[in-house]
Amino acid sequence: MTSPRLTLIMLDPETPGGRRADAAAPALPVTDLGVARGDGVFETLLAVDGRPRKLGAHLDRLAASARVMDLDLPERAEWERAVEHGLRAHAESFGAEPGGRLAVRLVATRGDDAAAETRPTCWVQVAPSTLPTREASEPISVLLLDRGYDSGAAERAPWLLLGAKTLSYAVNMAALRHAKKHGADDVVFVTSDGKLLEGPTSTLLMARVAEDGTKTLITPERRTGILPGTTQAAIFELAKAAGWELGYGPLESGALFESDAAWLASSVRLLARIETADGRPIGADPALAERLTDELWEMAESIT
Ligand code: PLP
Repeated sequence: MTSPRLTLIMLDPETPGGRRADAAAPALPVTDLGVARGDGVFETLLAVDGRPRKLGAHLDRLAASARVMDLDLPERAEWERAVEHGLRAHAESFGAEPGGRLAVRLVATRGDDAAAETRPTCWVQVAPSTLPTREASEPISVLLLDRGYDSGAAERAPWLLLGAKTLSYAVNMAALRHAKKHGADDVVFVTSDGKLLEGPTSTLLMARVAEDGTKTLITPERRTGILPGTTQAAIFELAKAAGWELGYGPLESGALFESDAAWLASSVRLLARIETADGRPIGADPALAERLTDELWEMAESIT
C-alpha cells in the first residue's frame, strides 16, 4: 500500500509541468527498464516550507548521471515545473507538513522495453521527510565496509557508473542491512586498497582542529568514484566563507580516527555525527565534536 501522503507527478511531453497521477494506483508496466534492470537515474532533495533546496545542483547532477548512462532526459525547465507542481499539489491535498519538511524524489528510467518507442519514464514524487531533525539527531555508529573495487576503478572502468546516481541501489541497501544486523547504524565504504569513500546514501565529512585553532573540513576526492554530494559542496562553500580550510583526499581509514569529528551528510537527513566506526571512537574530545557539529548544523540548515 502506497503512503497516503505521497504526491505523484508523471512528466509527460503533452502536459507541461506533468500530470498528477494517483499515487496508490499502478504507474509503471512490469516491462519498464527501471523496474526490470534498475536502469535509470534519480535524485532526492529536501523541500522546506514548500520550497525545494538546491534544486539547481540536483538537476545538474541528474543531468550528469543521465549523460554517463546515455539517457536523454526532458528539459531542465520541465523538471522545475514538475517539482513546483508536485509541491503545490501536495500542499493542496495534505496541507502544510508538521515541521514543513518534504522529501522530493526525481526519477527517470530508461522506459518501457515493450513500448513501440522506448523513451524515459520520468516522475516527481513528494512525501513527508521521516528523518530526524537537528534536535532529534543522535550520534551514529558505522561499519567500514569494503566496496569491492580499488581507487582506480572509476577512471579505468566508466561503465561501472561509479559517480552516477543510478537506480541500482541494491548494493547500498544490502550494506546498510549488513550494518544493522551487526548492531551499527550506517556504513562508510572503503575501496579494496583502503581509501575512504562515502556512505551508501551520504557523503563523508571530517574535521580537524589545529593547535592554533585552524579548522579544516575534509572529504574524500570524487575521482575515487563517489557521488559528488550536493550537501557536501554547499557546506564546503559555507565553511570556506566562515574561515575554514578545505581538504580533499585519497584518505586512508586512519584519517577518520584522527579526525576531531566526522559526519555523514546528505540532502534530506542533512547531518549525522559519527560517534564510532567499527566500534572505535571518533574524536578524542566529545565536547569539541559537539561544538563542531553545532557549527555544521547551522551551515546545513542555512542551505537554500
Ligand atoms: N553518496 C551517495 C551514494 C548518495 O546516495 C547520496 C545521497 O543520496 C550522497 C552521497 C549525498 O548526496 P547529497 O548531499 O547530494 O544528497
